[in-house]
Amino acid sequence: MGDALIPAEVDVHKRKLNDRNSAVALKTGLGAGASKGAWMASPIIDIHTHIFSALDIPLEGYLLSRRSERQLPALFDLMISIFPMPQLFGYVAKRARERCVTRQLDPDTKRGRFYTLMLWFYGVVADQKFLDWEDSLSSCSEMNAKLLAETWRDVDLFVPLMIDYEYWFANSMDNRLGNQIDTVFKKVVLPYMGKIHPFVPFDPARELAYRKARISPDGQLEGDRPMTLVKEAIEEKGFIGVKLYNSLGYRPLGNADPAVSLKRRRIAVRNNKLTYLFDGEEYDEVLCELYDYCVDNEVPITAHCVMNGIEAYPGASFDFGKAEFWEDVLKQERYKNLRLNLAHFGWNQAPYQGFSGEDSWAQEVCDLIVKYDNVYADVSHHRVLTAKGRRSFVDGYRQMKEYYPDDIDTIKKRILYGSDGHVLRRIRGYRKFLEKYERVLTEAKLFSEDELENFRGGNALEFLGLLPGAESYERLRSFYRANGTTPPAWFGVLDHRIASTKEVSPANRENTTGYGASQAVEESWRKTRASGPGSH
Ligand SMILES: [Zn+2]
Repeated sequence: MGDALIPAEVDVHKRKLNDRNSAVALKTGLGAGASKGAWMASPIIDIHTHIFSALDIPLEGYLLSRRSERQLPALFDLMISIFPMPQLFGYVAKRARERCVTRQLDPDTKRGRFYTLMLWFYGVVADQKFLDWEDSLSSCSEMNAKLLAETWRDVDLFVPLMIDYEYWFANSMDNRLGNQIDTVFKKVVLPYMGKIHPFVPFDPARELAYRKARISPDGQLEGDRPMTLVKEAIEEKGFIGVKLYNSLGYRPLGNADPAVSLKRRRIAVRNNKLTYLFDGEEYDEVLCELYDYCVDNEVPITAHCVMNGIEAYPGASFDFGKAEFWEDVLKQERYKNLRLNLAHFGWNQAPYQGFSGEDSWAQEVCDLIVKYDNVYADVSHHRVLTAKGRRSFVDGYRQMKEYYPDDIDTIKKRILYGSDGHVLRRIRGYRKFLEKYERVLTEAKLFSEDELENFRGGNALEFLGLLPGAESYERLRSFYRANGTTPPAWFGVLDHRIASTKEVSPANRENTTGYGASQAVEESWRKTRASGPGSH
């Protein structure tokens, strides 16, 4: 059904992309594909990154809500339990926020000695690079964007997911959401034209607070309607999707269930948010409005879908964020084509869990993928940076092949590369994430060389709707045109491939290459080809 959205000539092209011979041609610039004049590897797309700073989120609540990812020996566990964590995180949050301000004046502002020592010590205990991560948290979004681009130079397109936690956690005064979106538009999207296109966050609680004119946690009335912020970001500011975070306290749908409402009440009491306790029906209504907009305009959604990460209370992911809850949305005729990425694959990485553990949702994710044409899963933050972690994932993917013999090809087309940088920066060896992940997929004998091409970016092009004819593609094309820029090489090359692999009618040619930049696109493409094998 996803295919029905794409014109026939693109379909021909997609088959070519998956064809082994043409994949060789893609790489070498020789062979059957090349003789037709225009082949190139898929772009590398990191579908899941972040650029938020300590001033964009309620940092203290965020830090406190994270559970340790390390399986600690009992002695360490005991040591950690005697740390006064709330005070500790409160202190870190305060210092990181402070440094984030001062670094905007002087990027080289140093940390104090005690602060450095504390981060270092806690990092050693938790086996994470907290000093590096603090560096990201105390960097503003444009500094973080620069870091992404410099760290992973091969990536053609980064998709930073903006997040909005304000209505669920103990608050700290932070940048207003409308300002955050605007800053990212002006200081990240425009300067990096075509290299960074973010997802805009949507929190139904914020939308309800706006509708009911509640004073926000920062003590103001919501000036902008969140749904309008979403639409403006998508239609005018180069944002290409929406980010949802269910484990904060709302299900994709079905929020009116009394048991679910009771759990939300628990959050309100626990996190001191009774002002923002809304009815389940209201949540569903607001969410449906979002899904309607996304379906009508082919806007993709990425939803956090794993049991570790941010939770309104320990275990809230299991009450609000399970993959199976999305069935409530997708089973409706109206929403069956919703473009949905279940971030982190619902994969439980605790011991004895993995792909098929009782508390892992990876199989549920696969079931949804098989059943619905536009459901995807990204692999961000999977622990493949250690040999032990990789072994566990190799086993998991082998199981997947066993469990889904008839549908494994479908599943492979829906797995998306995503890193979770800058959050991944806490983990040793994070720069090599893509390389290590590919090693896992190859060792599991799951992906061939040309299928890896799709994992790196081809699948993401489908999810994002960035193949010619899809609405996101048209929106981005208009966006580049409105801002007077040439589309990035990867965007134009797709245009070119369509035009050159099949005789298209003049009308179609108009449709795919027909605007002022096509000449420049053609030139950049020629340069790419002239630089010969291995340039990609
Ligand atoms: Zn993330």
